[in-house]
Amino acid sequence: MAKKGLLCLSLTESTIRRNIELAEKYRGKIDIAELRADFLKESEYKYIEKFPKEISVPAILTLRNRNGGGLFTGSDNERRFILMAGLKAPYSYIDLEHDNYDTELEKAAKASSVTVIRSVHDYSGVPESVSGLINNLARNPGEIPKAAFFPKTTQELLRLMSAYGSLENKPAILLGMGDYGIPTRLLAGKLGSFLSYTSEKKDSAAPGHISIEDMTGLYRYREINKDTAVYGVVGNPVMHSSSPIIHNQGFKELGLNAVYIPFLADDIGEFMKLSRLLDIKGLSVTIPHKETVIPFLSGVDNIISSVGACNTVFLKNGGYYGTNTDAEGFLAPLKQIFHGVVPKGLRATIIGAGGAARSAVYSLKRNNIDVLILNRTEGRAEKLGAEFGCEWGSIMPNDTEQSIKKMSEYNDIIVQATRVGMAPDISGDPLPGYEFSGNEIVYDMVYKPRETVFLRRAFKAGCRIVHGIDMLIEQAKFQFKIFTSRDFPFSDFSL
Ligand code: NAP
Repeated sequence: MAKKGLLCLSLTESTIRRNIELAEKYRGKIDIAELRADFLKESEYKYIEKFPKEISVPAILTLRNRNGGGLFTGSDNERRFILMAGLKAPYSYIDLEHDNYDTELEKAAKASSVTVIRSVHDYSGVPESVSGLINNLARNPGEIPKAAFFPKTTQELLRLMSAYGSLENKPAILLGMGDYGIPTRLLAGKLGSFLSYTSEKKDSAAPGHISIEDMTGLYRYREINKDTAVYGVVGNPVMHSSSPIIHNQGFKELGLNAVYIPFLADDIGEFMKLSRLLDIKGLSVTIPHKETVIPFLSGVDNIISSVGACNTVFLKNGGYYGTNTDAEGFLAPLKQIFHGVVPKGLRATIIGAGGAARSAVYSLKRNNIDVLILNRTEGRAEKLGAEFGCEWGSIMPNDTEQSIKKMSEYNDIIVQATRVGMAPDISGDPLPGYEFSGNEIVYDMVYKPRETVFLRRAFKAGCRIVHGIDMLIEQAKFQFKIFTSRDFPFSDFSL
């Protein structure tokens, strides 16, 4: 049976000494170390034989040229000279590009019992015939084929993922580059790739490399095998999401053979095919797919009919079902403030009329709280208000005076549900003209940064404040329960 899912640390420092130090620093976390000799200073080539002698794991020697995405710009003769020197040292593998045949190097590798990794790197996308390509890549018996493609769409990622099933039962490395390719790097042990690469820092050796700390800590890569249950968050963008931190810590604490990973997706329909292929057990759905995912589900619950957005997908009776935990997640921090039950008769203002505002309006109205909706685009506030029976207004400069006056009737709770103040533009305040009395509960749904300008202003005035990150954690806890049928194992989890 071919080994699968080994972890290889790619080393891209400019000196041999520093690369040795790093390989030794991480030796307990990796199976193999790759010396990317194309990142070395020229004056270091003469020490190339030291690397495999002074590290404790098997070594790969790689001198990647520009075509393959590397830095080496020397001639074929120079390349041969450097690699020949390496083949005199105890490297276990040498990476030779598929379009740079060199019979002398192949002979020398064979004589030294160094296994050739025959590689192709295609930055242009994913070809139609991935399986034909990888299964015919080796030039000589015993070579390990390696193909790395750069998927630019969900459809391309699906094509790449579909090829794993056809890998022959021999070692082969098949990986996707870039953010779309991240699931292939994380799931190598499940998909059947011989190894996956990591770097000390994210992306330092190739686009899509995950840092070794995240790979082995956050994602527990080395525990992933063919039986690992896959969960994840699907969105665009998605790489900033904190959800993997929450769910993976829960899985780890409960000792579950499960992993939660980010899936960048431009097409939710194609992604749901990928989800089937990978047998994904549960998904958090984020912008911009919360509405567009609904037609691809076998069913949805009543909350979705009211909120109109799905943030949670899970397997039920063999089909994918949708629900929404944002509304419950929104309410949970308010319940904590009121020791379990939000009192009837309170009045609230919600600033914003997008998806987040909709969950908040739904939750508050269900708890008999009257709501005023204020939004930049007044028509959206009006539409949402009409749907839920709320008053509405605008926060455009000409209207703020009137809106702020109206707020005095709805100021027990103020919810900030616009994108204003969200990173990277953290200086924004959606309603700078509103002066807090200090009696309001002020809730900002923005969670990056944790403390927005709006919240800081409210806190300074003496208000009780609620951070958006608390809602994020609470909605994730509800998802965790839906995904695993287990309670999230930390009572005071924070990010
Ligand atoms: P959305 O559906 O795109 O709605 C965006 C809202 O922000 C709209 O009301 C929009 O007003 C308003 N807006 C955007 N730019 C503005 C500006 N420059 N000035 C004034 N208003 C502006 O987004 P969403 O899903 O509701 O998300 C809104 C925020 O809530 C985001 O920061 C998101 O990260 C956060 N959120 C947090 C959680 C959590 O768990 N804490 C969950 C969901 C969302 P117009 O209608 O005029 O465009």
